[in-house]
Amino acid sequence: MSLLTSLARQVMQQATVVGAARLAAHAYRITLAGLALQHWTYTPGQTLNVFFGLAAAETSLRKRTYSVWGYDPARQEVELAVCTFSDGPGAHWAAQCRPGDTVHFYGPGGQFLLNPAAPAHVFLGDVSCLSHFYALHRQLAPDVPVLSVIHAQHREEVFADLDGRWPLHVEVAATLSAAQYLRVAETLGLRKLGLG
Ligand SMILES: Cc1cc2nc3c(=O)[nH]c(=O)nc-3n(C[C@H](O)[C@H](O)[C@H](O)COP(=O)(O)OP(=O)(O)OC[C@H]3O[C@@H](n4cnc5c(N)ncnc54)[C@H](O)[C@@H]3O)c2cc1C
Repeated sequence: MSLLTSLARQVMQQATVVGAARLAAHAYRITLAGLALQHWTYTPGQTLNVFFGLAAAETSLRKRTYSVWGYDPARQEVELAVCTFSDGPGAHWAAQCRPGDTVHFYGPGGQFLLNPAAPAHVFLGDVSCLSHFYALHRQLAPDVPVLSVIHAQHREEVFADLDGRWPLHVEVAATLSAAQYLRVAETLGLRKLGLG
């Protein structure tokens, strides 16, 4: 075991997988629980750094960041939505997660939070951003203008928020360049949001 892995094992927190279910064609809902989730100072939009490769026999420590989709302090539970398009270590972890597995993580943290002073909000990203945007969107008052473009290659890749709602606009297309995201946003009223 490398020194880095050994140090990581000492500073990471632990939770247990209590739910692992397919959420959409390429996404899993992973529910974590444990005492380490009890007294968080959590702001919606924060993320967890999840670490893989901490088992004694493994040599490569890897970290992937996942947005906190939902946090229930009373139940000491956290929901993640992990996409598998990437087919990398994070995707493999999510697909193989089983109730009872131990998860090492660090967090919550991160800077992709709402600006409460913003006159409007624009959410642009692919399906791997959905849980993050849902967590942010739930915090907004109904009168705050919101515009969203979520790119999916196929409709079956998209999933509803934890409360069953579908508040964000999905654009199904083989690819979506940055310019195309903006074009869709413009058709949805980007210039009327008064963002300057
Ligand atoms: C702040 C933040 C929050 C995040 N929140 C989430 C989250 O809630 N859920 C989630 O699933 N991911 C989230 N991610 C992305 C996540 O951390 C991983 O980068 C991602 O899951 C890929 O990890 P991997 O190990 O499977 O693939 P990697 O080994 O990292 O990548 C393998 C290949 O896949 C490509 N790739 C990476 N992402 C995608 C994608 N979306 N579509 C197509 N190809 C891709 C890479 O460019 C690379 O070529 C977040 C990232 C950040 C920075």
